[in-house]
Amino acid sequence: MIIDHLRSNVPVTAPKADIVTAARALVNVVPEEGWSTNTVLAHLLQDIASGLARGASGPRFFGFVTGGALPAAQCADILTTIFDQNVQVHLPDETICTALEHKTLLLILDLFNIPRETFAVGSLTTGATGSNVLGLACGRDAAIQHALSNSSYSTGDDGIPPNITIRVLTDRHHASIEKAAALVGIGRRNVKSLEHTIRPFVQALEDELKASTVQGKKVATIVVVSFAEVNTGDFTDLTGVRDVCDRYGVWLHVDAAFGAMACLLPEYAHISEWMAQADSLTSDGHKWFNVPYACGIFYCRSRQLLTSILAGSGAVPAYLSTSHSSNENLDLEWTTTVPSPLHTNIENSRRFIALPLYAALLAMGRQGYVDIVRRNVQFARNLSEWMCSEENGGGKWFEVLNLRDVKVSEGTSSKEEQGEKKMVPLNVVLFRPKDTDDVPTAYRRSTHRGNKGTATLIRDVNATKKLYVSPGAYSADDGGAVRIAVSNWMTGYMDDGADLEAVKDVLRGLMRVDS
Ligand SMILES: *Cc1c(COP(=O)(O)O)cnc(C)c1O
Repeated sequence: MIIDHLRSNVPVTAPKADIVTAARALVNVVPEEGWSTNTVLAHLLQDIASGLARGASGPRFFGFVTGGALPAAQCADILTTIFDQNVQVHLPDETICTALEHKTLLLILDLFNIPRETFAVGSLTTGATGSNVLGLACGRDAAIQHALSNSSYSTGDDGIPPNITIRVLTDRHHASIEKAAALVGIGRRNVKSLEHTIRPFVQALEDELKASTVQGKKVATIVVVSFAEVNTGDFTDLTGVRDVCDRYGVWLHVDAAFGAMACLLPEYAHISEWMAQADSLTSDGHKWFNVPYACGIFYCRSRQLLTSILAGSGAVPAYLSTSHSSNENLDLEWTTTVPSPLHTNIENSRRFIALPLYAALLAMGRQGYVDIVRRNVQFARNLSEWMCSEENGGGKWFEVLNLRDVKVSEGTSSKEEQGEKKMVPLNVVLFRPKDTDDVPTAYRRSTHRGNKGTATLIRDVNATKKLYVSPGAYSADDGGAVRIAVSNWMTGYMDDGADLEAVKDVLRGLMRVDS
């Protein structure tokens, strides 16, 4: 029922007229006398709802790789609100909420096929950006300790020492890495994506590290890779990277916001081992796990490093200090081993975000998540195949920009032979309109400077309200790109191909009309 509703009846994003009406209905003053709950609810449902992008959790919202919200997770999220736990201080005699969070973090490692003991500490955050802030803060302290040859130096306590520059070397990092660098005192300008089109990332990295160690000024380094890169779905080849990081004393942060789930597919099983090589690891609950916002995931190899930043070496106020159980009947391992979340997290008072994630893991199981990931990747591959076919497809109008040699393994596509095939690597299709006579002039690169043709196509696609796509980055002078990111559990779910047809219909419709 939820599916049918979101599939056919609801515009994916709010129609213009509804936005205007809903925005005008927004109340401008705090009412002197409060409204009844029923009146408030009626206002929200009748006046506000139509102005929202109600299909954002539905099958044809393809922006931002942010998935949707599984029914079990939605229900648990409502319970989170009703129970209203404050997951801040570990209070084992009062509530098991910190234990449930701890257990959820372990279950996620199991799902990723990462040994539980790999990371000494984990935390649920408000999103991958929050997790990246924690990762770069840990990397900053480790890098400075290495540069000073002083393993007890605390940047959290004493700040960044003069004469040390920290830089972050990346492979096509997500924008949130720069935000994190800005927040933890590293600075955006010290984040640098290494060019490595002709040689492996590991070589580009080693060259950069060699060059910088001879400079007079002390340089401390953090390495960040994205699993996967948001425009293309590419994974950085980490072979040898851990080794290089060890040799140069460099912290390795893996930002696996959405791509961590790819390890569930046989062709990406190897990324589990790569994620396990990280010093710190980011993932997201509100992306491919399909739980509601705001749910991020973070792991760190060193509990001491993380807690020294967040708790400091000074005294913690008594009312916030971790309580260990005084109840002798509670002989449960977690009563003493779980640190208070306020010492592993940016926030102090926090929502019980573990509950929806825990519920989603139980409702899906490993196989359920394998199915979602496989279905989403197949959807992207089917769409890109259509865009590459000139005969009965979109090939005369579109050009797919992220085709790669992908190993096809058994089980993913029974009809295909084993071996390599050109296709999109994961769940993202990055494409642009061709610059030919078949394409309406409004969308052509030769008609406009810069990104305007592609931007016009994106605007027109989104104006249909039948799907939502976002701009992608390709290269500086290419005229821009459109990105379709498939990460919703519903997309193509028992629909006889209706979602894929709906996308093709919209694209065909725009290409056939010359404006
Ligand atoms: C989405 C994404 C982020 C940011 O995640 P939020 O949950 O939106 O904060 C960071 N890194 C990568 C690789 C992403 O895909």
